[in-house]
Amino acid sequence: MALIQSAAGQLVLGIFLALLAAVGAFHFKLLTVSGAIAAFVLGAVTFGLGGLGWAVVLIAFFVSSNALSFLFKKRKKSAESMYSKGGRRDAAQVLANGGIAGFFVLLHHFLPDAWMPWLGFCAALAAANADTWATELGVLNPGKPISILSGKSVEPGTSGAVSLAGTLASLAGAALIAFFGWILMPNGILLSSNSFVLFALVSVGGLIGSLVDSILGASLQAIFYCPKCQKETEKHPLHGCGAETHLVRGKKWMDNDWVNMGCTISAPLLTIILGLIL
Ligand SMILES: [Zn+2]
Repeated sequence: MALIQSAAGQLVLGIFLALLAAVGAFHFKLLTVSGAIAAFVLGAVTFGLGGLGWAVVLIAFFVSSNALSFLFKKRKKSAESMYSKGGRRDAAQVLANGGIAGFFVLLHHFLPDAWMPWLGFCAALAAANADTWATELGVLNPGKPISILSGKSVEPGTSGAVSLAGTLASLAGAALIAFFGWILMPNGILLSSNSFVLFALVSVGGLIGSLVDSILGASLQAIFYCPKCQKETEKHPLHGCGAETHLVRGKKWMDNDWVNMGCTISAPLLTIILGLIL
């Protein structure tokens, strides 16, 4: 392992492995071309500037979120018309989920002994994972979900919909990332005398990030209406059927990617504030 002991060697290895992962994800139809380029940059920065521990947490997020999406592909078909984008993730989706994590890797590069970058990195990915798990496993909820703001029963897949199964899935998704964050916590950074604190903070932060996602989804997120299908949709300007859609609520610019960005920003902010208090 002499190669990864030099910074330049680590960067070269990071670039190589990130390229392999991005090409693989494109091949398996998980990413578009722009999504694969964004994932390559994020992976190279994470492995090259962070190191093995950082890369493993990123890979845990990537594998667990994609495995669930893959397993629940068939179930999701009915809700597909609600979504503005198809199965492959593009660059905006990759950056909405992983951009904030990438920012914390860069911060670590300049502040190598600080605990904040690692905590923020793990919390951002925990929130992204929590959100994905809630979306994929929430469909297992026996009853209809409710809107997080109005409390009224809504159709599964609606932005801002929450359910017991979805919320538990969200906590589990965050806890999985928190577990890797806890066991891989780099030597030399000390958040508190008890490293378990990191597990607890990242789990709670990830869960709350996914609730922020639901709140934004139920309030500011743009929802359009297709007059031809007489359905609400996130698609704009054209629905899947080809008809033009009109804004019915929310802010026109606030699409799902901005909502996800809000989710992955709020979790590290909250966990870092809690980390400073503890
Ligand atoms: Zn339509």
